[in-house]
Amino acid sequence: MPAMRPDILNPLFRSVTSLPGVGPKVGEMISRLLGLNAAGEPPRVVDLLFHMPTGVIDRRKQPGIALSPEGAIVTLALRIDRHQPPPPGNRKQPYRVFGQDETGEIALVFFHAETAFLERTMPVGETRYVSGRVEWFNGRPQMVHPDHVVDRDGFEKLPMIEPVYPMTAGLARKTLARAIRGAVDSLPHLPEWFDAPLLAQRSWPDFHDALDASHTPRGAEDLAATSPALMRLAYDEILASQLALALTRANLRRASGRARVGDGRMRHAIVEALPFSLTASQSQAIAEIETDLVAPDRMLRLLQGDVGSGKTLVALMAAAIVIESGAQVALMAPTELLARQHAKSLAPLAEAAGMRLAVLTGREKGRERVTILERLAEGAIDLVVGTHAVFQSGVEFRDLGLAVVDEQHRFGVHQRLALAGKGAATDILVMTATPIPRTLVLAAFGDMDVSKLTEKPAGRRPIETRTIPLERLDEVVGRIATAIEGGAKVYWVCPLVEESEEVDAAAAEARFAELQATLGAAVGLVHGRMKAADKDAAMLAFQRGDTRLLVATTVIEVGVDVPDATIIVIEHAERFGLAQLHQLRGRVGRGSKPSTCLLLYRGPLGETAHGRLAIMRETEDGFRIAEEDLRLRGEGDLLGTKQSGVPGFRIARFEEHGALFEIARQDARLIVERDRDLISERGKALRLLLYLFGRDEAIRLLRAG
Ligand code: ADP
Ligand code: MG
Repeated sequence: MPAMRPDILNPLFRSVTSLPGVGPKVGEMISRLLGLNAAGEPPRVVDLLFHMPTGVIDRRKQPGIALSPEGAIVTLALRIDRHQPPPPGNRKQPYRVFGQDETGEIALVFFHAETAFLERTMPVGETRYVSGRVEWFNGRPQMVHPDHVVDRDGFEKLPMIEPVYPMTAGLARKTLARAIRGAVDSLPHLPEWFDAPLLAQRSWPDFHDALDASHTPRGAEDLAATSPALMRLAYDEILASQLALALTRANLRRASGRARVGDGRMRHAIVEALPFSLTASQSQAIAEIETDLVAPDRMLRLLQGDVGSGKTLVALMAAAIVIESGAQVALMAPTELLARQHAKSLAPLAEAAGMRLAVLTGREKGRERVTILERLAEGAIDLVVGTHAVFQSGVEFRDLGLAVVDEQHRFGVHQRLALAGKGAATDILVMTATPIPRTLVLAAFGDMDVSKLTEKPAGRRPIETRTIPLERLDEVVGRIATAIEGGAKVYWVCPLVEESEEVDAAAAEARFAELQATLGAAVGLVHGRMKAADKDAAMLAFQRGDTRLLVATTVIEVGVDVPDATIIVIEHAERFGLAQLHQLRGRVGRGSKPSTCLLLYRGPLGETAHGRLAIMRETEDGFRIAEEDLRLRGEGDLLGTKQSGVPGFRIARFEEHGALFEIARQDARLIVERDRDLISERGKALRLLLYLFGRDEAIRLLRAG
């Protein structure tokens, strides 16, 4: 049953079309601009409140016509001199209105204008205030479509500093600004949900004033992420997320109390079937997971381990514990390719252990899918491997005890709460290859325990990494040919040309054709535009050794495991990010033979690209690489390519607000300890906060919801 939203919030949860100047058409465009809200619905008034300006237009400059610089936004006081309509029959010519001040004359230019309207708003002989961008054309100043044309009264009300919002085509700036103004005006004064000492210590404004100030900036400095208003709003957003996560955890703790105790039978069978022994860190991680599973508390654990450190096996052992105890396990991979590969590599071990395993991706359709779903619901499948997407859409389990989320390095932050809600007492294990900054972990999960795989399986040889200019491509192809004759298996990764799979696929196809012509039939191809079955076939042929060289796009970057591949060539390595290069390189060096990574680059290299390639040559240590990556990107940020927004958050930013996550986590924990059901005065106010930021699913978990 949905919890009842307090009435005081009603004005904010109306459709945006309830705002002044917003009809169905504008409402449609606002929907396009903002996308669906957290609840998957068209945006409401509240969503406009959090559509923050990214800059300001400053209209304070009033230099007079003659001294108005080219391209500057100015405000001018003009006496209207004359109107010059376009010649009859020539609608392409603009309508011009001439005005002057004591310094000179300017033409106001209007295309497709309505004559009557212009005559009414700018009567000859009257004074008008116009504001907009001045252009000098053949030595004469003009202003095309002034932003404002007002009389004396209008001038007094003219905002001299206007917020600039991210826009969408077809939506007029003024219309959006007016709608947002309307949203701010409909915001009631709400009781304070922040801890009084925190508020006093930080001297932050209250919620209402913070939003009001952010939408009526007095200068660019008011929009800085570190301004008191934006700090406050970021903390609002962060606290809402941390509180929702803390409530969810507390609730599951209360509800679950399920101890997963297995008899060790499956784990034993798996270890017996392995051709190698577990590394010490694998054993340690498995022990930590077992401790969590055996305890009645719910597990929320991150398994962090570099590429090739053997995370999959740890996941299987965790699955074994849960299945031994009689429950089911879901393993979610980021791509279909990876899901199938996981399933394939796990199948022999699962069989040895007597686990019933199934694959479920977008490809299982019709009868087959129905059967799998039925068997999952009745508990006839123990371990199901699939893509994230599959589990987001109504898959029912008889008793889902553990969800393993294989994020690889594409650590996304989405509706984890939905996932957590799948099984009554589902434990969660998230696997990632890159060390994730604590802030991001907090943003995604709130509190979380971490296990680390710090060593690689024994017998691994280091990968020799070399950088080679693309001009020497022929030479490289020659060496590859020799290596293949000697029995080597090679990946050839094609450049990421654009963020378009089609273009990438075309580049890969062209390279495939060339290499096949040079090297003969032993060349395979895999890219994102291929049919799933063809991708599988290409991977299988490469695994078996039917093809010795596999031309690929970055589809192979996540988790593809062909242990006897020993060479990887990465074309245009300068175009890849460091994390991506590291992931790609991790496709080799998985067996006992020495491996090579050739990074082909096109010079001249920029400083950052140069730095990236140098680090790749220097180290294979994923942690070191992640650090360097942050450092290099930090420099990129200084150059103005800022991308530090926190995924899933509208206001909070990593750089400026990162420290607030830890404070909010502690704050949320205290709140849950003292007022688990949010019934105190502050608790009631906090409920409002959860609604405002779309975290109200957590309110349903409260006893007095
Ligand atoms: P990742 O952590 O990148 O997901 P995988 O789980 O894919 O790594 O493991 C990489 C390879 O290492 C696989 O071929 C796997 O069978 C092998 N492997 C895993 N654990 C060990 C081990 N203890 N000793 C030797 N090889 C191992
Ligand atoms: Mg893996």
